[in-house]
Amino acid sequence: MFVNKKMVHFMSEKLVWMFEEVDATLPTKELKLMYGGKGAGLVQMVSMGLPVPEGFIIPCKYCLYYAENGSWPEGLEEQVDEAVQKLQEKSGRTFGDVDNPLLVSVRSGAPESMPGMMDTVLNLGMTKEIAEKLAENNPRWAWDSWRRFIMSFADIVMGTGRKPFDEIMDQMKEEKGKKTDIELDADEMKEIGELFLAKYTELLNEEFPTNYRVQLIAAINAVFKSWDSERAVAYRKMEKIGNLGTACTIMRMVFGNMNDNSGTGVLFTRSAMDGENKIDGEFLANAQGEDVVAGVRTPTNLEDLKEERSELADEIYNLAHNLEQNYKDMQDCEFTVEDGKLYFLQTRNAKRTATAAVKVAIDMLHEGLIDEKTAVLRVPPERIDELLHKRVSPKEKQKPITKGFNASPGAVVGKAIFDPKRAIDLKKQNEKVILVRKETKPEDFPGMQASVGILTSRGGKTCHAAVVARGIGLPAIVGAGELEIDEDNATAKYPGGEFAEGDIISIDGLSGNVYLGEVQVVEPEIAGEFAEYLDLCDKYRTLGVRTNADTPQMVANAIKNGAEGIGLCRTERMFNAKDRLPKVVKMIVAETLEERIAALDELKPLQRDDFVEIFKVLDGRPATIRLLDPPLHEFLPNYKNMLVEFTELRVQGIENERRDELEFMLRKYEELKEENAMLGHRGVRLGNTNPEIYKMQIAALMEALMETENDGVQVELEIMLPLVAHVNEVTRLVGILKPYAEQILSDAGHTPTHPLKWGTMIEVPRACVTAEAIAKEADFFSFGTNDLTQATFAFSRDDVEGKFLLKYINEFVPPILVDNPFEHLDIDGVGRLIQICVKEGRKGRADTHDGERLKVGICGEAGGDPQSIVFLQKADLDYVSCSPFRVPVARVGAAHAAILAEQGK
Ligand code: ADP
Ligand code: MG
Ligand code: MG
Repeated sequence: MFVNKKMVHFMSEKLVWMFEEVDATLPTKELKLMYGGKGAGLVQMVSMGLPVPEGFIIPCKYCLYYAENGSWPEGLEEQVDEAVQKLQEKSGRTFGDVDNPLLVSVRSGAPESMPGMMDTVLNLGMTKEIAEKLAENNPRWAWDSWRRFIMSFADIVMGTGRKPFDEIMDQMKEEKGKKTDIELDADEMKEIGELFLAKYTELLNEEFPTNYRVQLIAAINAVFKSWDSERAVAYRKMEKIGNLGTACTIMRMVFGNMNDNSGTGVLFTRSAMDGENKIDGEFLANAQGEDVVAGVRTPTNLEDLKEERSELADEIYNLAHNLEQNYKDMQDCEFTVEDGKLYFLQTRNAKRTATAAVKVAIDMLHEGLIDEKTAVLRVPPERIDELLHKRVSPKEKQKPITKGFNASPGAVVGKAIFDPKRAIDLKKQNEKVILVRKETKPEDFPGMQASVGILTSRGGKTCHAAVVARGIGLPAIVGAGELEIDEDNATAKYPGGEFAEGDIISIDGLSGNVYLGEVQVVEPEIAGEFAEYLDLCDKYRTLGVRTNADTPQMVANAIKNGAEGIGLCRTERMFNAKDRLPKVVKMIVAETLEERIAALDELKPLQRDDFVEIFKVLDGRPATIRLLDPPLHEFLPNYKNMLVEFTELRVQGIENERRDELEFMLRKYEELKEENAMLGHRGVRLGNTNPEIYKMQIAALMEALMETENDGVQVELEIMLPLVAHVNEVTRLVGILKPYAEQILSDAGHTPTHPLKWGTMIEVPRACVTAEAIAKEADFFSFGTNDLTQATFAFSRDDVEGKFLLKYINEFVPPILVDNPFEHLDIDGVGRLIQICVKEGRKGRADTHDGERLKVGICGEAGGDPQSIVFLQKADLDYVSCSPFRVPVARVGAAHAAILAEQGK
């Protein structure tokens, strides 16, 4: 026989592991990779001495072998047989032995918990003969277990689906006039089993297998196959989980449905909602497997079980506590009691809300269970956002009426309104309304703005409603598909009820939950454990955290959130204010330098006052102020509107001042318009050709600095030139602006508390690769990753995101891009440029400035993205800057990055 290398390799390998044969002292991560999450938990529980039914595991890698070769590795079948032998010996039971039968569950379990994998098959090994015998003692249980097994084998292993079997159940209940499964008696269950067998043959054209080996091999294959099921593959792609395979665990069944002295339950060692240090669990007597979660009957709270069966409850509490002490993290466990004997069937680190994650981390730190760094790493930075919006109180008892996609975070209460125009009317009467629509369209925008929240029945996370809501910071739920919205009659049906115009509803854009009536909403607040957690993060992070903010209000919010200064203040935002725009336009359309300077002189005091306010709120913290960046025509009125108005006047033969003005403005627009404004006359290019604009801004800054410092507040000012590509652009401009600024200060006899700094925004690839030269002329660098990404990819963001970028990421298999480079820094391209720039820039600065370290920050979107921050930490930046509401996220992200870097990750 032809034997390939792989086969030889496997023949000598141990392929199947009894729980107690696994080295449970290995790190959990390694155990999970080998034996899956479920398997790892089981072997660890066994080694801790917890009561676990006997069993064995087939490691993940043989699932991969199966996926690749369509067959089992040589030796696996023999080793499964051996393991079955051992299992029979250990448990004292035998497959197929009617007097003492062994029954098992077959469970899948990947290294990371993920949906889409095979559901567990329970009671494998069951036959009619066994059921018959078991029925002598406990007929109901015996026949129920038998029919359950037939159904789950057909459904899960053979892929028939549940429906044909559920129909038989339902029919039987109806015939016998019974409401729930529990009311069906032993004879009826037996009858159902017979009908199930017949159905099985009908559906699959073969007899139901009665040989345990046939059943077992089919079930193991089904576990292996489920790894590549459509759902599993889709989930792996979404969560970026690698192709690691799933393990298969085979273990002796214990019966929670044996009698009233049996039962099954689940527990969290602390509250997964708010993290309170109190076991939170439920127990259902005389039930098996997932009956608790399925909600067949109302389970007993574990607190109440303490009173009803204190000994059992104590045992459960003790073991749960042991598990938590051992794992040093909150656990989520499954357990079953068989005729009074307790078994643990699963344990894993519990999923939890962000509130709970923070509280558990801080509590466990205080309990001495974990150290500070571990506590920091216990809260994923992306989850911090959840704590910064209004949300439904974790204590809220009301159940949601339906659920949709969590499109934009925040919780709000308001009157349901089905018409955008009604929303605007009611807003005028100071009513709070939630706009309920099938979907929204651009013309609904004013109505959306008038609402406190949006709820739609259609659409996904990128639909109009979702995008607009996120853009204007409005809580929104979209695609709540169970809602039947009737816009004409202003009503919405949900499963079990209906609401109409004017009814109060609540939505939580974070969870996607919709409630009828008012729910308790909690305000975001940095206090208690959250404040303590953020302080802890500050202790470990080495990157500074600043903010991108242009108004005093934004700066104040950012400081409240922990910002250490401004990393980017866009001065053009100040130009856009309503009272300013006419003056700006006057400046832009000026035909002579004198006219322009006159217009600028009008703008200067306004800009100065803005700076004073911002400096005062900053209270001595550093401020990077960017001089005007966008092309001038962006400030002019809309070209199309002007053209339409002008054409109308002309057609009507009207000759007036307005027509002249329009003609002039249209000509100016033509003059200034560019084919590719993003790459055009803007930033330092504009500064160099029209230095009078920057000079006005410098004068405003100097006057503001002096005024603020004279009022006793220090100013640490960093002046930033945008869009630098060539060192000479900097040399020339700084050569003009620096003496000008110094002159203003010296004329007034003012010595600033901090020397002025002149730096550049790095957002052009050429600047990155010539950083050494630029750094000789610049005191600091700050990366603008949005423009840098656009320029590096030659992507115009506004165009590509709407056209093909999502295809690149989501549609092509394999994908062309794994992430959107505008959301997560493109490490290989943009990241590489950043590394070169930092290295060369630091060298240039040190060479010409006596070893001085060039200060480098980042103010693009990546500055608020934890995934990018990990890279920026390695690239040795000094600070990140992000929008005010992302500041806490960046603080946590930076702490994670510092600790991971220290651990060499
Ligand atoms: P999931 O991946 O959905 O958690 P599980 O493998 O945990 O699936 O199994 C589903 C249900 O069956 C759980 O309630 C579990 O406790 C129960 N179960 C699994 N194996 C056994 C067993 N050997 N004896 C009794 N109940 C079991
Ligand atoms: Mg489970
Ligand atoms: Mg830019």
